[in-house]
Amino acid sequence: MADLIDGKAFAENLRAQIAEKTAALAAAENVQPGLATILVGEDPASHVYVRNKNRQTEAVGMRSIHHELPADISEQALLELIAALNQDDAVNGILVQLPLPEQIDPMTVINAIDPAKDVDGFHIENVGKLTIGEAGLVSCTPLGCLMLLKDRLGDLSGQNAVIVGRSNIVGKPLAALLLQQHCTVTVAHSRTRDLPAVCRGADILVAAVGRPEMIRGDWVKPGAVVIDVGINRIEIDGKSRLVGDVDFKEASERAAAITPVPGGVGPMTIACLLYNTYQATCMQKGLEGRMFGCSENSLVEARLHQQGLGVKISLNTPFRKGSCTGRCLNPV
Ligand code: NAP
Repeated sequence: MADLIDGKAFAENLRAQIAEKTAALAAAENVQPGLATILVGEDPASHVYVRNKNRQTEAVGMRSIHHELPADISEQALLELIAALNQDDAVNGILVQLPLPEQIDPMTVINAIDPAKDVDGFHIENVGKLTIGEAGLVSCTPLGCLMLLKDRLGDLSGQNAVIVGRSNIVGKPLAALLLQQHCTVTVAHSRTRDLPAVCRGADILVAAVGRPEMIRGDWVKPGAVVIDVGINRIEIDGKSRLVGDVDFKEASERAAAITPVPGGVGPMTIACLLYNTYQATCMQKGLEGRMFGCSENSLVEARLHQQGLGVKISLNTPFRKGSCTGRCLNPV
């Protein structure tokens, strides 16, 4: 049976460390990171997501600034709010909850955010930087996947990684991150021929499709590490249940390790949003060198050090490989 990759525990530990770092930042520099969220319209799921983000932001000691706008707001009015937040020194990160109503073009809005405050990592400048390996803010879900993979496997160099799904928010940025980790990356999608055979070649198999339990057990190479990004709500015997894009039971019989749904990648996304907000704050204040002086080999070192984000994510549990001693938690 596969080991469980406990994203919930990992995210809890990551948030605890961010809270420690945030307190240290306040004490040393009198700086409190601020994350502004913008929610347009009444979509119930978006309200739940944003409420969770706001709650977790405050729980780590950051300032949460929330703006709720009516569904019929004009694109111009939204752009004016973003321009004001870009100028506001108390706001270090800006997140516009997607989807937006149809009169608003999401890319126009995202690209209006100051790239230094783009904690979702969706701005074209940050996407470009990720692609060419320059320092920038990285999209939260792929960053969370990378952290879980680095924790499990340590050095990813030479691994065959197959990502099923080529979205701009998951598949493509994760492909760029894994390429930087020296994986051999295949990005599969709806036109891929013989997807089961492609998946069977994967040492690392990531599913980001949005189709419940599409990836079957016999698509998984024995000993592979499986990361299931999918979150799908299905009805079984009249009861609503969340499942991933991977048939967890079948895949567990072949994989070496697998993320559950829920409790795998999902909790990592908000934790990485807070992580990005902390990093953005330090970068804006010119503090990154002082806060993150530790450069030893560690958890997510390659990508994060490349970005000048050399934080070591030292968690008490449940890390196996790549855990660090905790020395690096002290500001230097
Ligand atoms: P998306 O934008 O809908 O993209 C889905 C991708 O899957 C597309 O590239 C599509 O291919 C591919 N695909 C669809 N059907 C396929 C098939 N039969 N065979 C092979 N590929 C197929 O989805 P997304 O936004 O990346 O999200 C994917 C899943 O992750 C969803 O369940 C979503 O809820 C979840 N998610 C979770 C988190 C989290 O925090 N854990 C964050 C984001 C998303 P084409 O490009 O050819 O159409």
